[in-house]
Amino acid sequence: MSAIELAATIDARGVSLDLDVDDGEVVAVLGPNGAGKSTLLSLIAGLLRPDTGRIVLGDDIVTDTRAGTFVPAHARGVATLNQKALLFPHLSVEANVAFSPRSRGIDRRGSQKIARTWLDAVDARDLAARMPSQLSGGQAQRIAVARALAADPRVLLLDEPLSALDVGAAPAVRRLLRTVLREQKRTAIIVTHDLLDALALADTVVVVEGGRIVERGPTAEVLTAPRSAFAANIAGVNLIGGTAHTTETLRTSWGLTVHGHGDTDNGAAVAVFSPAAVAVHLVPPHASPRNVFETTIAEMDIHGATVRLRAPDNPDGSRGIAADVTPAAVADLELEPGKRVYFVVKSQEVALHTASR
Ligand code: ADP
Ligand code: MG
Repeated sequence: MSAIELAATIDARGVSLDLDVDDGEVVAVLGPNGAGKSTLLSLIAGLLRPDTGRIVLGDDIVTDTRAGTFVPAHARGVATLNQKALLFPHLSVEANVAFSPRSRGIDRRGSQKIARTWLDAVDARDLAARMPSQLSGGQAQRIAVARALAADPRVLLLDEPLSALDVGAAPAVRRLLRTVLREQKRTAIIVTHDLLDALALADTVVVVEGGRIVERGPTAEVLTAPRSAFAANIAGVNLIGGTAHTTETLRTSWGLTVHGHGDTDNGAAVAVFSPAAVAVHLVPPHASPRNVFETTIAEMDIHGATVRLRAPDNPDGSRGIAADVTPAAVADLELEPGKRVYFVVKSQEVALHTASR
């Protein structure tokens, strides 16, 4: 069953969107500024009426311009998490989290119990008595996650939830979101600028450009073999799936070991590195710490001033490693399809991340 079925246009914003989301699916929405990403979330949340269109959440038609249906935001079962935590400043942390169960008519004790459960879940029980002004950005965002989930939403909408956090605080909140989105099989849409969010959190990536959905597919596919211009710009990264063995190594199903650095030491993981970080050698270099992949050149494509070399597809069918080199290097090394080469990547250029489902 679909959790979300949306078809909506807003002429003044140049937006015409169509999107279906399955029950329990996590969708990452990528796209340039002004593309219509926040508009998409506002339509689902009931903060905007489309000029034409219909939005169904589960079994409920919440927007239908033809029938004149518009269920107000608070009655949609949708919770939104924004860049800024937007906690009620005059309420304690616990009262912020208890607010939604209270407004659903649950009594004070029951609401307090729900709030404490969610504060535990986000590892913030010790912050219960604080006021929002006494929280760091990362702490406030954790509380905002607890508050959103305490509303027991059927759909969770996240609009760049990590982008206002400093780099130190973002990984912990990202990990928390992974836990809550995955373990509970939540239906969620996350707007993000960050590939890592899409990789860590989403089953599916949707790219919005100029008010339209121009691409939709499994996360790894869109990020490795993007079809839209926007995704090609931010993605086009090398992505090798496998199992993390330590925080510094990943092993693939076909026995390749990739050295990098990461935040996980077991379970499904991906190694991510830029094609620009791959150097091409004709003989294997000996300096460490490096990854040396012996391969043949399967494809060569010219992209402006760089030449992208591609290794053959991996044994599991995923795209082969890409390397970006200069035309001068192609000439010097006499690179051509079919040539045996070594793709060399320093381990500090390789990020290892827990993979999404
Ligand atoms: P994104 O979140 O992808 O950056 P938005 O959904 O905010 O993009 O914006 C989509 C389009 O709608 C843009 O052309 C933007 O200028 C316009 N827009 C956004 N917010 C408003 C608003 N409150 N009133 C009118 N137009 C808006
Ligand atoms: Mg936006």
